[in-house]
Amino acid sequence: MDIPLGCPFGHTTCWDTADKFICRLNGIWKRDNRLVREWFSVRSNDLDYQLFTPWGIRAAEDHYILQTYFYAFSKIFFGDALNVQNCLLRVFLKDGKHERQWYDVRCVKKTLGRSQPFTPSNGVKFAVIDIYQSTDLPNLNATLRQYLGTLLHEMTHAYLSLFVLQLTSEFQHGEGTAGHGSGWMRITYCIEKFCSQVLGLPVDLNRTFSLEREIMASGIALRDVPFCQLDVDTAAVKKYVEERRALMRPNPIVAQDVGPSLKRQRQN
Ligand SMILES: [Zn+2]
Repeated sequence: MDIPLGCPFGHTTCWDTADKFICRLNGIWKRDNRLVREWFSVRSNDLDYQLFTPWGIRAAEDHYILQTYFYAFSKIFFGDALNVQNCLLRVFLKDGKHERQWYDVRCVKKTLGRSQPFTPSNGVKFAVIDIYQSTDLPNLNATLRQYLGTLLHEMTHAYLSLFVLQLTSEFQHGEGTAGHGSGWMRITYCIEKFCSQVLGLPVDLNRTFSLEREIMASGIALRDVPFCQLDVDTAAVKKYVEERRALMRPNPIVAQDVGPSLKRQRQN
């Protein structure tokens, strides 16, 4: 299989990708690294500085701000592999021509963002990242911080969809049923840690919620989930999944009643 254009190395599985990702990030885990110095030189960690400029207040949904962070994150975390040639970033606003789509995704499905891979007729893979406007956070700083967490969450999906050659739905080595397999979980853990400890930008990539959804979607047994490798709130995930699965089990009293009723139907 051909390695997609723009891919610096090409990975076999999501697990393999996570290994290489962690190895590379360990190499720049210092404040005197060039990429980290660049980050601080333009005060990327200071969200108020980005929002409250001498020329006026910028919206947290400002496409220029989000696109600038996209480039910075791509350089730091993904070796500049995500760029305008293979990834499009869109922001969906509550008001305007995408109002209906925003409502369906953000309000009904409670989705903050999503990444969709495409392979056009020329065979070159492409990803579209969508971020949906949030209207329920207390201020601009909190809103932009949430978008940046969502952006990193979706960039990880986009990276795996573009550069992993064996993209299966298997949990341990593939991308999982809902995209949040072991590889995605390990990469996003390192991103959250690096953002908080090195970049001075604590962000939430929604990992615990994503793993809960992944386990529910895949039907994987809890004993088969390698929690010790995933760095999540294991007790919270297990509690959530066990409660949801208990709700989905058929009620034994109702099940007993079904027999005679079916028998009556057959007799009639
Ligand atoms: Zn996701």
